[in-house]
Amino acid sequence: MHTPLCRHATGEPWEYAAQARQLGLPEIGFADHGPMPRDDFDDWRMKAGELGEYVARVERARRDHPQLVIKLGLEVDYLPGCEDWIRELAGRHPWDYFIGSVHYLSESWAIDNPAQLARWKERAPLEVWTAYFERLTQAAESGLFDILGHVDLCKKFAIYPPEDCTPLYHRFLQAARRHGVAIEINTAGLRKDCRELYPGFHLLQLAAQAGVPLTFGSDAHAPNEVGLNFAEAVAQARRAGYTQCCRFTRRQRQVAPLPLS
Ligand SMILES: [Zn+2]
Ligand SMILES: [Zn+2]
Repeated sequence: MHTPLCRHATGEPWEYAAQARQLGLPEIGFADHGPMPRDDFDDWRMKAGELGEYVARVERARRDHPQLVIKLGLEVDYLPGCEDWIRELAGRHPWDYFIGSVHYLSESWAIDNPAQLARWKERAPLEVWTAYFERLTQAAESGLFDILGHVDLCKKFAIYPPEDCTPLYHRFLQAARRHGVAIEINTAGLRKDCRELYPGFHLLQLAAQAGVPLTFGSDAHAPNEVGLNFAEAVAQARRAGYTQCCRFTRRQRQVAPLPLS
């Protein structure tokens, strides 16, 4: 979940926590968009100097809601060449987890940015999906992340290759499995043009078969999105063959039963 520091979310962490308590969730976690080495890289994340403020706001939510377990994470963009920066960020605070996300296929193109939708018309969907999954596979192999975020984000605008993408999924899932990286069911996909959970059912089923660990996320950018469509996500996990999920504390993975909802 996010905070206003990323410049495109509303509501403070303590407001998200209040909503979670109303819903009866036992545990939540924040993973706002982490800074890049250059603050002018883009305009939809916290600046490097705001990292301490981010941690302080999550800590205030913990103080305000001691009955709720609140995890401190970060959603970190994976771009080749950023590895040292990500390692440096990892050392700055007592993180519970890092979610690695591929939004950028190059320094100048975030494939999920509506303002850059025209870029999709410059190449075949399969070319974009292949580059996306290759970069995601690299992220899995980097050893920098506990969880990979919204793993089929390339479907956000419902631009699908006519070809079978199963080989792309397999390569990625084998890497995730080998490096012990989890994926998430992220319910934000239901709120986008693709109108389905990230990842789609086929990819989730392959992930279950490959033994890739699973977490759940609403990717909330506002308090009313906390835990949104969570029951549907859990049901989808079961249908795909998952019997367990996982949670993270200080970047250690623990196995947990699937939630009952
Ligand atoms: Zn965001
Ligand atoms: Zn993201």
